[in-house]
Amino acid sequence: MISIEDAFKLIAEAVSPLPTAHSMLADSVGRVLADDVTADVDSPPHRKSVMDGFAIKSRDLKGAGQSFKIAETIVAGGWPNAPLADGEAARIMTGAPLPDGADAVIMIEKAKMNTVDGVDFVEFSVDRIDSGKHVMERGVNFAKGDTLFRRGHRIRPTDVGLLAEVGCGQPLTGRLPSVAVLPTGDELVDSQEQPGRGQIRNSNGPMLLAMAKGLGLKTIDLGIGRDNRSELKAAIRKGLGHDMLVLSGGVSAGVLDLVPGILAEEGVVEVFHKVKVKPGKPIWFGVLTRDQQKTYVFGLPGNPVSSLVGFQLFVRTAIRILESDRSPKPRSVSAQLAKDHETRGDRPTYWPGRWVEDQSNVRKVEPLVWRGSSDLVALGSADGLIYFPSDTNQHPAGIDVIFFPF
Ligand code: AMP
Ligand code: MG
Repeated sequence: MISIEDAFKLIAEAVSPLPTAHSMLADSVGRVLADDVTADVDSPPHRKSVMDGFAIKSRDLKGAGQSFKIAETIVAGGWPNAPLADGEAARIMTGAPLPDGADAVIMIEKAKMNTVDGVDFVEFSVDRIDSGKHVMERGVNFAKGDTLFRRGHRIRPTDVGLLAEVGCGQPLTGRLPSVAVLPTGDELVDSQEQPGRGQIRNSNGPMLLAMAKGLGLKTIDLGIGRDNRSELKAAIRKGLGHDMLVLSGGVSAGVLDLVPGILAEEGVVEVFHKVKVKPGKPIWFGVLTRDQQKTYVFGLPGNPVSSLVGFQLFVRTAIRILESDRSPKPRSVSAQLAKDHETRGDRPTYWPGRWVEDQSNVRKVEPLVWRGSSDLVALGSADGLIYFPSDTNQHPAGIDVIFFPF
């Protein structure tokens, strides 16, 4: 039996990132950039007005009521016809480029226009204006050549505007992994059915599909696999056509735990079986290699919380490596334990916990009442999993623990 850290190490060695491809920007959200993104323009690309108003030379304004000849009108998308002459103003719209010579903009609300003999003039209700007022210099947001995103960054909806601004209309990202999910067990019935004698509903199938969907992956629902060699083999073969196959059940030491045997027959090479972790010890991981293509296979233990922990820790990490994510391991925060807690046994334990606030508004994590790997009730009110190391079973209130938020 290997340690959690060794399992991560073996996963990192075994899994290689998927090939990259360009996708349309609007469809790229959730994928991971395979290249740095650098700016191909300055932002803003020209010295621009940030107000609707009048561009002038600030030193020309000696006092309110002084009359300026309006030289031209510049709109966003337009370009000044000429540099501004002394004593002139240019009517200008938000985003429009300033004419050379102008160094400030007076907003339209402070201006009064009039026409004398067909010539347009403007006067202002302000006595003076600072140089640079309502003007944005070229390139202050970023300059051409600046690196704006690093490879390994996962594209969020809020990144898309900037990517568009620098012409990254088809970002190069890792291909979306496809993940097939196959829960196994003769006792399982669909969640829409009434369980008969000895039967339970299939929790893991929908749960694992939902967790994979939550990671933005392409998912394939293989239905329920039966504890029957030939049927299970056929279902597993279907799953081996994808980037990843996640099974649940049938990996322990029971008489009908057929999964590792069938996977071996199908050529899937075992990387590890059993990790020193609670819950989730019997987890199985292996790789099938054919031609250039690989399928990564996880056999998660059947109990739903074991499956959940195995997915959160190991399946998710493997997927993030497939996607070329810069930080594939589960994200954790340090938090104060809200109350005394006792664990059992000699395995590091992941225990459902939730955020609470004490009287002085300090955020802490509280372990929930939890009956073990088949008890999903605690998960309903959990915000994540608290990690308890195996060196002691006594964890007093107030110590710092590592918390893995969902
Ligand atoms: P196994 O790993 O197949 O020995 O299963 C361990 C325990 O988890 C057994 O009590 C199973 O009934 C239960 N179990 C297995 N698969 C599922 C599933 N898909 N949903 C809910 N419970 C399951
Ligand atoms: Mg089973």
